[in-house]
Amino acid sequence: MNTKTQVGIIGAGPAGLLLSHLLHLEGIDSVVLETRSRKYVEERVRAGVLEQGTVDLLCETGLGDRLRREGLVHRGIELRFDGRGHRIALSDLTGGRAIWIYGQKQVVKDLNKARLAAGATIHFEVNDVRLSGIDATSPVINYRKDDQEHILTCDFIAGCDGFHGVSRDSIPSGILRTYQHDYPFGWLGILAAVAPSTEELIYASHDRGFALHSLRSPEISRLYIQVDPDEDINEWPDDRIWQELSIRLATRDGWTLADGPILEKGITSLRSFVVEPMQYGRLFLAGDAAHIVPATGAKGLNLAVHDVRILAESLTAWFRTGATELLEQYSTRCLRRVWRVQDFSSFMSLMLHRFPDGDGFRSRLQRAQLEYVCSSEAAARSLAENYVGLPHV
Ligand SMILES: Cc1cc2nc3c(=O)[nH]c(=O)nc-3n(C[C@H](O)[C@H](O)[C@H](O)COP(=O)(O)OP(=O)(O)OC[C@H]3O[C@@H](n4cnc5c(N)ncnc54)[C@H](O)[C@@H]3O)c2cc1C
Repeated sequence: MNTKTQVGIIGAGPAGLLLSHLLHLEGIDSVVLETRSRKYVEERVRAGVLEQGTVDLLCETGLGDRLRREGLVHRGIELRFDGRGHRIALSDLTGGRAIWIYGQKQVVKDLNKARLAAGATIHFEVNDVRLSGIDATSPVINYRKDDQEHILTCDFIAGCDGFHGVSRDSIPSGILRTYQHDYPFGWLGILAAVAPSTEELIYASHDRGFALHSLRSPEISRLYIQVDPDEDINEWPDDRIWQELSIRLATRDGWTLADGPILEKGITSLRSFVVEPMQYGRLFLAGDAAHIVPATGAKGLNLAVHDVRILAESLTAWFRTGATELLEQYSTRCLRRVWRVQDFSSFMSLMLHRFPDGDGFRSRLQRAQLEYVCSSEAAARSLAENYVGLPHV
C-alpha cells in the first residue's frame, strides 16, 4: 500500500506524539508509526518530573486538563546527607517557577487521546521499519503491518524512536559524531503502592550509595537506589530494597520511610550520549534518538519536549513560506540546550553518587559541593534554575 503524508514520524513516545500534536495545531499532516501496542506505550513506567516550561506548553496546546487536576506542583526539593535534610527552595530562587509530578505514561495517554480524537493516523504494532531517500526531497518509510508491506512517502521524516530505534542508524556513516560517557553506576527503581513519606523529592547522598525518594501520586511512591550497572535484579528481593532505602534515607531526627507492595522494579544504567548534528537531509532526530542524559537531573522527557517544540516551529515555517532558516538551525538550537542539560545532569550525578573505587579525594569534593549548594544562595539558585528548566529559546 502506498500513502503520503507531510511528516512521517517514527515512534509514539512523548517526542513523536507531541510533535504530531503540535503539527496538527498548525494544520500540518503527519503519520506516526510505532512498533509497540498502544497499551504498552501507555503503561511504560519512566519519567515523572515535568519542568515548568513543559507544563506550560502542554497547557497552552490543550493538553492540560488532567495535568492541572492530577499533577502535583512541587516548589522545592531536599538534598539529604549526614542524616540531615536541606531544602532547595526552587520557586523562591527562580521567581516562582516550579516542577510538576505527572508520570510520563499519563503524558502519553493524554497525547494519544487528543491525537486519536482529532482523527490522527497512528499505526501501532508495525515492524520492519526502513528509511530511504532521506537526502532527497521525498523521503520514504517502508514498514510492515498485519503482514502487509506499506510505503509512506513524506516531505520530512522525524526520527522520534528512542535510543534503540532505526532512524539514527539510517544516516550514512561518517555524518554523525557521537559523544558517550558511561557512569559507573545504575539505578534500581521501584514503583510502590504506598503513600509517599515526603511531600517533596529527596535526593540522598550516603556512604552506601545514592537514594532518591520520588513519587507519582498521593498513593504511589517511586524510589531509587544506586546499584552497580550490571547488578542482577534477582539479588534484590523486596525486603532488601526497602531495608537499603531505609538506611540510605535515614535522618538523625527519626524520620521514617513507609513501605508497601512493590508494583514494578527494574535496573537502568546511567549514561550520557549525544549525536551531532541531529539532522541529515530530510531526517530530523528528536528526543532519546539523539541524546540520553543520566536520570539524576530528571531531564530526558523535558529535553524531548524541547526538541519537538523547535522542530514543529521549524517545519511550520517551511510549510507556510518555504523558509529553510529555522530547519537549518534546528540542530544547533537543540544541541545548545542538550549540552547545558548534560552538564547539569552530570553535575547532579557526580555530586550525589558513591564511586565504586571508594576514592577518598572525590568523596571530600562531593561533600564540599553539597555543603556549598546548601549554604550559598548563589549556588542553590544555579541548581534551582536548571532543575525547573531554563527558558525555551
Ligand atoms: C527507566 C527510565 C526512567 C526514566 N526516568 C526519567 C525521569 O525521571 N525524568 C526524565 O525526564 N526522564 C526520564 N527518563 C527518560 C525519558 O523517559 C525519555 O527521555 C523519554 O521517554 C524520551 O522520549 P522519546 O519520545 O524521545 O523516546 P521514547 O519514550 O523511548 O519513545 C520512542 C518510541 O519509539 C518506538 N520505537 C522504537 N523503535 C522503533 C521503530 N523501529 N519503529 C517505530 N517505533 C519505534 C518505541 O517503542 C517508543 O515508543 C527515564 C527513562 C527510563 C528508561
